[in-house]
Amino acid sequence: MRRLWKWRRRHDPLVCREFVELVTDYLEGALPADERARFEAHLAECDGCTAYLEDMRRLIGSLNQTPEPPPDPATREALLRAFRDLRESG
Ligand SMILES: [Zn+2]
Repeated sequence: MRRLWKWRRRHDPLVCREFVELVTDYLEGALPADERARFEAHLAECDGCTAYLEDMRRLIGSLNQTPEPPPDPATREALLRAFRDLRESG
């Protein structure tokens, strides 16, 4: 009982929701320092978000290992032009 109470007290659903929404920014280092510090303080107390962070890190890691390379700018430009021509002629 006491353990549960402690967990409930520490577990802040609002921060958890924010964390889930901003976890990619966090992993990319795109969060402002104060937000980052707040999340790190939350991570130290929240097992759920720690596990979520690990999952996301793995997921992003596997996404970065996709065999297909992203199109280079020239290819992208050519594609955009092709789409534009298609729309204008159609
Ligand atoms: Zn949390």
